[in-house]
Amino acid sequence: MSLLSVQGLSASYGAAQALFDVSLEVAQGEVVALMGRNGMGKTTTVKAICRMLPSNGQLEFNGQDLHALPSHRAARLGLGLVPEGRRCFRDLTVRENLLAAARPGDWTLKTVGQLFPRLEERHAQRAASLSGGEQQMLAFGRALMTNPRLLILDEATEGLAPLIRQEIWAAISRLKARTGLAILLIDKSLKELKQVSDRGVILNRGETVWAGVMSELSPDISERFIGV
Ligand code: ATP
Repeated sequence: MSLLSVQGLSASYGAAQALFDVSLEVAQGEVVALMGRNGMGKTTTVKAICRMLPSNGQLEFNGQDLHALPSHRAARLGLGLVPEGRRCFRDLTVRENLLAAARPGDWTLKTVGQLFPRLEERHAQRAASLSGGEQQMLAFGRALMTNPRLLILDEATEGLAPLIRQEIWAAISRLKARTGLAILLIDKSLKELKQVSDRGVILNRGETVWAGVMSELSPDISERFIGV
């Protein structure tokens, strides 16, 4: 059974329709890549799933109709978003940022610190004093502290130095191998996406145009819809 099931999803920004017909599924323990060129609707899809934007169509999480719930309840069902642009509380320390997100479960200050030792070393520092990559790890850690059933990463490696990107990819691989957490992943690097994802979905102009097993994504399709 799917943990997340999206069928025929549409959404608009005022009069401008951004999503027309998006369908995607994420099963328990699965890593799914959400792909497509800039502006094709990936972030909008994630916002609709997290109920940050009104939408129509089928949106089910863990067997519950997300549209029937107020958005704050939807988050409590276990959607852990690492948003584009790594938002943290800049004036709080790393530790305070993590604790502010905490909900009961296996992810704690200790286990997040094991996944990101760099963060643990900086527990007492203000978030504003961290490098971009460290802030991204903090945003990642905050999402884990909510003990989600589905982790959604929107461009978690965007604009980061190569070494830090590698650390983030290594953390995603470790999560997959050790915890079996379901992950929905948006990223520009197809190479890394292919290594870590089980399945993929491609959006083009607000519509799902391809969905399948990641190893079966052909060069033709990726050239046409992703641009690589
Ligand atoms: P990117 O990789 O650039 O973030 P994306 O695939 O995530 O691309 P979206 O950000 O979902 O794309 O954008 C989908 C469409 O919605 C685009 O045409 C974009 O211009 C439009 N859009 C996005 N955010 C807004 C907004 N806040 N107000 C109006 N239109 C928006």
